[in-house]
Amino acid sequence: MSYDNENIFAKILRGEMPCHKVYENESTIVFMDIMPVSDGHVLVVPKSPAENIFDLSEEYLKEVIKTTKLLSHAMKKALRPSGLIVKQFNGPDAGQTVFHYHMHIIPVYNGALNTNHGYEMEKPEKLESIAQKIAAEI
Ligand code: AMP
Repeated sequence: MSYDNENIFAKILRGEMPCHKVYENESTIVFMDIMPVSDGHVLVVPKSPAENIFDLSEEYLKEVIKTTKLLSHAMKKALRPSGLIVKQFNGPDAGQTVFHYHMHIIPVYNGALNTNHGYEMEKPEKLESIAQKIAAEI
């Protein structure tokens, strides 16, 4: 499969679709997952047209990890989770559903999560309020 410029994250990166942005720098953007697994679930997205880990350059991969670390600390302070899951999927068989590389950061609150994705759209005002809470700790 080749990179599809019309995927939803490409549209968010071009400003054609909205998102609840938490953080942005030259190489990455972080926004709230619209169907969160838990309160505070964010996605770290490189500003590079790569579908998966096989396509993303090492340079951008490093930038994703740097941003993931920055956000993990901010989330720990802002949301006080008892744990934090960092993961990403490559290819449909692995569970990838949006074909622009991204890293999930999923807070866990006093108990194990055993699901890969959320199933319900969260209220926009709740996503925005959590986004601001995390952003304040960066
Ligand atoms: P993956 O299965 O790793 O490709 O995950 C894609 C994630 O993107 C899922 O957790 C979706 O809930 C999330 N998602 C899909 N569309 C949007 C959107 N417009 N804004 C924010 N998150 C989205």
